[in-house]
Amino acid sequence: MVVAVDGPAASGKSTVSRLVAEALNFLHVDTGSMYRAFTWKVLDAGLDPKDTAAVLDLMKRVRFECDFVPNAQGLRQVRNLFDGVDPGPAIRTPRVEQSVSVIAAIPPVREWMVARQRELAKQGDLVVEGRDIGTVVFPGTPFKFYLDASPEIRAQRRAADQSGAGVREVGQAMAERDRRDSSRAVAPLKVADDAVRIDTSDHEAQGVADVVLKHIRSRYLARK
Ligand code: C5P
Repeated sequence: MVVAVDGPAASGKSTVSRLVAEALNFLHVDTGSMYRAFTWKVLDAGLDPKDTAAVLDLMKRVRFECDFVPNAQGLRQVRNLFDGVDPGPAIRTPRVEQSVSVIAAIPPVREWMVARQRELAKQGDLVVEGRDIGTVVFPGTPFKFYLDASPEIRAQRRAADQSGAGVREVGQAMAERDRRDSSRAVAPLKVADDAVRIDTSDHEAQGVADVVLKHIRSRYLARK
């Protein structure tokens, strides 16, 4: 069973997905962390993210492994290792953030990541968060959610995560990333026709998770 949670940056996907995975005892897959970790590897190798040929060459050479590791709450979350190294918090730096949507727009990189994400479903039931989970990676799942919030609220949330960052600058960088993610040729960010849309602007994560869980339970029972 796969629960797909899509949406733009700072829409609440990560917190809500974690709460839902904890409640259902499912594995948690943050697909953004996979694109971010590869972007970190590209930068660490000294490559220009816009040099597609060099990025694809690295993709062919690098050893990419994923496994599941429990967090402090016991939630099993995906971990990405490139040539045996887990980049950890380095995937959240502004440097990675500025380049990730460039790397994620390269079609063979997406095919590589999507194949890996589908393989993870063989290891158990998943809550998967990203941009194209309900539309491309697991289009057959009946459990699809699309979270969104106003650009102002999303900028405030992201600035609060990055203590010291200005809301205006964070908002501008986020708008640019959203624009790239929504306008790319392959698997752009969009709402799946059959997704449940939830505006999280005025709601706490736990309240949103409860709504998601309610939908999952009623859809699951309706299918039995
Ligand atoms: O979710 P997060 O903000 O960590 O994602 C980082 C970036 O990874 C996104 O801006 C997008 O470019 C890319 N991404 C993607 N498809 C996904 C998940 C993330 O293209 N399924």
